Amino acid sequence: MGKTTKGLKVAFVGSECYPFVKTGGLGDVMYALPRALTREGCSVRVIMPLYNCIPEKFKKQMKYVGSFMMDQTMEGRTFYVGIMETEMDGVTYDFVDNREFFDWGNPYTGLWEDIPKYCYFSKASLAILNYLEWYPDVIHCHDWQAALVPLYLKTKFWNCPLKDSKSMLTIHNLRFQGICGIQHLKYWSGLSDGLFDYPVFKVNDDEANMFKGGLAYADAITTVSATYAKEIQTPEFGEHLDAHLRYHAVRMKGIVNGIDTDIWDSSKDKLLAAPYDVTDVLEKKWENKEALREQLGLACGEGKMVLGLVSRLTDQKGLDLVDAIFPQIMDGNTQVVVLGTGDPRYENAFRYYEEKYKGDVCAYISYNEGLAHRIYAGADAFLVPSLFEPCGLTQLIAMRYGTVPIVRETGGLKDTVLPYDAEKNEGNGFTFDRYTPENLLQAVNNAKTVFFTDRPRWDAMVKRNMEKDVSWEQSAKQYLAFYRELKA
Ligand code: ADP
Repeated sequence: MGKTTKGLKVAFVGSECYPFVKTGGLGDVMYALPRALTREGCSVRVIMPLYNCIPEKFKKQMKYVGSFMMDQTMEGRTFYVGIMETEMDGVTYDFVDNREFFDWGNPYTGLWEDIPKYCYFSKASLAILNYLEWYPDVIHCHDWQAALVPLYLKTKFWNCPLKDSKSMLTIHNLRFQGICGIQHLKYWSGLSDGLFDYPVFKVNDDEANMFKGGLAYADAITTVSATYAKEIQTPEFGEHLDAHLRYHAVRMKGIVNGIDTDIWDSSKDKLLAAPYDVTDVLEKKWENKEALREQLGLACGEGKMVLGLVSRLTDQKGLDLVDAIFPQIMDGNTQVVVLGTGDPRYENAFRYYEEKYKGDVCAYISYNEGLAHRIYAGADAFLVPSLFEPCGLTQLIAMRYGTVPIVRETGGLKDTVLPYDAEKNEGNGFTFDRYTPENLLQAVNNAKTVFFTDRPRWDAMVKRNMEKDVSWEQSAKQYLAFYRELKA
C-alpha cells in the first residue's frame, strides 16, 4: 500500500483534480503539485470524491481497496465509505466512493447539498488514511471543501496515529467559503457544540463558515501568491475574513503556483496546428494564428493582432472592464477570441460582439481544452484584467506559449508578470493598477503600440516569456521547506 521513500509522506485532500474532474485552477494544482513533490522524493497520495461525472476510462482503471461504515452527523448516522484507487506517474489517487453524496453534480451543485457532501468528504478522507494505515507527515487540504479536515484531525481523530500528522490548508480562492446556517453545519459535521459557540466557525448568530473554522485549526495556512497573502488581510480583498486572517497570519505563507510543463509544452503539444519552441516560435506562431482564425471563422491574413481570453466568465475576471472598452479595442486592426462559460451577462455580451464585429470576434461559449491550447498558441496577446486573482494560471500558460499577457496588478498576476519597460527592454507583459476601463484600455493600447510599431522588441518579449521559469519546481521546493518547518 504505502510506498517507502526517504522523503516526506503527504496526503492531498481536495474536491477536484485534473484529469479526473477540473472546473478551474484548483484542479490543475491538485494534479501538478503532487507530481512535482514526487520528483522531490515525497510519497504523495491524493484523496478526492468519486463523482459520477469522472469519465468512464478513469473509473475502469480504478481498483477497489476496501470499504467501511463511518458515523457522520449529530445523530451519528452511518454512511458507507468505499475506497477506489489508481496510480499515475508515481502518485496514488484514492477516490471516496459514496453514491448518496457523489452521484450527481459536476461536481458542485448548490451550497445546501455541498455542505453535507464536503463534511462527509473531509471526515472520510481521514478515516481512509486510518483504514489504510498510511500516516502522512502532512495532510495538505485545499479550499473550503476540505477545510474541516484540520478540525476533525484535532477532535475526532485526536486519539489515533493520525494525530501526529500536521495539517496545512491552502486558500485557492477566498471568495468561496462554505457559509451556511449554524444548525445545518452542526448537524452534518457532527462536531461538538463548543466549536460553534466560540468564534471558530461563527459568522453571526445564525451562520457558520467552514473555511473560517479550518483556518483557525490548521497548523499552517498557505495561499497561492505572496501578493494575495497580503491582500486578503485587507478589507478590500479579505471577503470578511481579513481580521481572522490577520490574527492567523503568523502561520500563513504565499507560494505562487506553477504550471505543468509536460501538459503545457508547445513543442510537443499535439493539439496545435504547428508545435514550436523558442527557436522557431515566430514563424510557427504565425501558422498557429492562421489555423486558429480559420477554425473559428475569423478573417485571416497579415496586419491584425489577435487578443485571446480563456476564462470563467464571472465578475472576478474583470470582464465588466473588457465589456466597457470592447468597441474601443475594435479599431480595425484587432481581433478577439473569447473562450469561456459562466455569467449569462458576459456570455451574452460576447455573443453580441461576435455578431457586431463578424469575422473579427469569436465568442466560444463553452469549456474546451483543445481550443484553449490553440488560443494560447495562436493569440498574440492574452487578457487577464481580473478584479482579484489569487494566482492565476492563464497568464503563466500564455507566457509559456509565447503570448504576451495584459494583466491587472493584483495577486499572482502582479507576482508573475513583470511590466514591460521600453527603456530597459525588460518585462513580460502590459499591466495596469487601478480597476478602471480607462486603465485597461491604456494597457491594451500600450501593447498594440509595441506590437505594431516595434516588432523586434515585441518578439524579444515573446521569447523571454517562453524562457521564463513557470514550472512547479521552485514552488514545490518552497512547499517542501514549509512541510519540513511544520514537522521540525
Ligand atoms: P480560476 O481557477 O479562477 O478559474 P485560473 O487561471 O487559476 O483561474 O485557472 C483556469 C484554468 O482553467 C486554466 O487552466 C484555463 O486554461 C482553464 N480554463 C478556464 N476556462 C476554460 C474554458 N472555457 N475552456 C478550457 N479551459 C478553460
